[in-house]
Amino acid sequence: MPIHRGSCHCGLVHFTAELDDPAVGLYRCNCSLCRKKGIVMKAIPDSAFNVIKGQADLSLYQWNKKIAEHYFCSGCGVYTHHRRRRDPTQISVNMECLEGLAMPSADIIGLVNGLEHE
Ligand SMILES: [Zn+2]
Repeated sequence: MPIHRGSCHCGLVHFTAELDDPAVGLYRCNCSLCRKKGIVMKAIPDSAFNVIKGQADLSLYQWNKKIAEHYFCSGCGVYTHHRRRRDPTQISVNMECLEGLAMPSADIIGLVNGLEHE
């Protein structure tokens, strides 16, 4: 599968994500955290995600049951990825951090009911 490069805004954090069609499996989540972040994500196996620069520059945010691990750049505050609560073997990637992809149109973005999960 193609390997996509991604980064935060300030450039401290760089990562790669190996994924199939980047227009399939996109989702938003209606939990209180994801709504405030306003992000579009895609879930991939954790073995398909690698931080290649700036691991020490990532900050971790946890809340509620403190199972999911929400990572963001300590320099610019951009959320890059999180380890999922519903499946901790998966990483959800902020698709807007990937290089060279068109901004996804709203009609291809699914919804995960994270609000019920809180
Ligand atoms: Zn940054």
